[in-house]
Amino acid sequence: MPRDFVKLVCTVCGEENYHTNKNKKTTPERLEFNKYCSRCQKQTSHKEKK
Ligand SMILES: [Zn+2]
Repeated sequence: MPRDFVKLVCTVCGEENYHTNKNKKTTPERLEFNKYCSRCQKQTSHKEKK
């Protein structure tokens, strides 16, 4: 089953900090994680970018 490659982008500065895969059939919603951003130097919200 194909899995989609997605980028996780810091919502504060727009930096692409993380890459992940997701299965659109099992995870149709947009991903959002609180992760550390090296540019902001703090934990920020990261959202899926196509
Ligand atoms: Zn950032």
